[in-house]
Amino acid sequence: MELIRIPRIMLETSKQHLSKGKTIGLVPTMGALHEGHLSLIKRAKSENDIVAVSIFVNPIQFGQNEDLDKYPRDTEGDMEKLKSEGVDILFMPEVKTIYPARFSTYITVKDLSDRLCGAFRPGHFSGVATVVCKLFNIVMPTRAYFGQKDFQQTAVIKRTAEDLNMNVEIVVCPTMRESDGLAMSSRNAYLSHGERKAASVIYKALKTSSELIKAGNVNTADIQKHMHDMLKAEPLISETQYAGVYDADALDEINEFKKQNLIAIAVKIGSTRLIDNMLVEF
Ligand code: AMP
Repeated sequence: MELIRIPRIMLETSKQHLSKGKTIGLVPTMGALHEGHLSLIKRAKSENDIVAVSIFVNPIQFGQNEDLDKYPRDTEGDMEKLKSEGVDILFMPEVKTIYPARFSTYITVKDLSDRLCGAFRPGHFSGVATVVCKLFNIVMPTRAYFGQKDFQQTAVIKRTAEDLNMNVEIVVCPTMRESDGLAMSSRNAYLSHGERKAASVIYKALKTSSELIKAGNVNTADIQKHMHDMLKAEPLISETQYAGVYDADALDEINEFKKQNLIAIAVKIGSTRLIDNMLVEF
């Protein structure tokens, strides 16, 4: 595996591969890799000649009171995992090469960025869209792989790629879960033993909601109440930021079920913020 830290060298390397007619699959990550990340890498391996993984904890997508400083980092462990997956290139730039002193260009994706997580994390999706655009310009991937776990992120990135005529295919991969259903996340490492057990209520609330919707005879308000009731019944949940039924394209709350419905939850357990979602289709 080739380790590249300098954007200019990454760009030159990609140009060489592309000039030989090779396809490049990019998996952008913030490291502390788990099976969720590895599932994206496996998919990228199966569909491309060259697989590049980026590890970059992107400071501009973290709010002032968020966990940038304590975000889990495990470079050695990550490199072992990437080698055993047969990854070709690890791109791990330093913050100062991505955001030099005079950096001043930010992408704003209207509407999609303001709802759900965006309402609680102002500026977050601008930070995401900006860094992903930069990674696309540096790596020039044929395809880029993202997890459904961060559904709103996939919507924002698809919109950015389409609006800015980016020459890349966005591939969304299913959410990998622990045995009790909890969506894998680097942030699960913050949870105490008790909090970890409590966290499975998120999946249970989504799963039972999905079953209720499919069985019929419920409306969106019933589902929202069902989710909030389940979350309220778990004492270790310190805050429910949102839980409800949303349009899978526009991401706004809906009053009637559509063909494709997003059910999504964001909660805090102690100080750890966790999100999850499911698509319910008719
Ligand atoms: P992160 O390192 O958290 O920024 O995640 C990097 C990529 O991995 C994003 O596209 C995430 O959506 C994806 N990802 C994170 N957790 C999971 C999961 N449990 N299953 C599938 N993909 C995931």
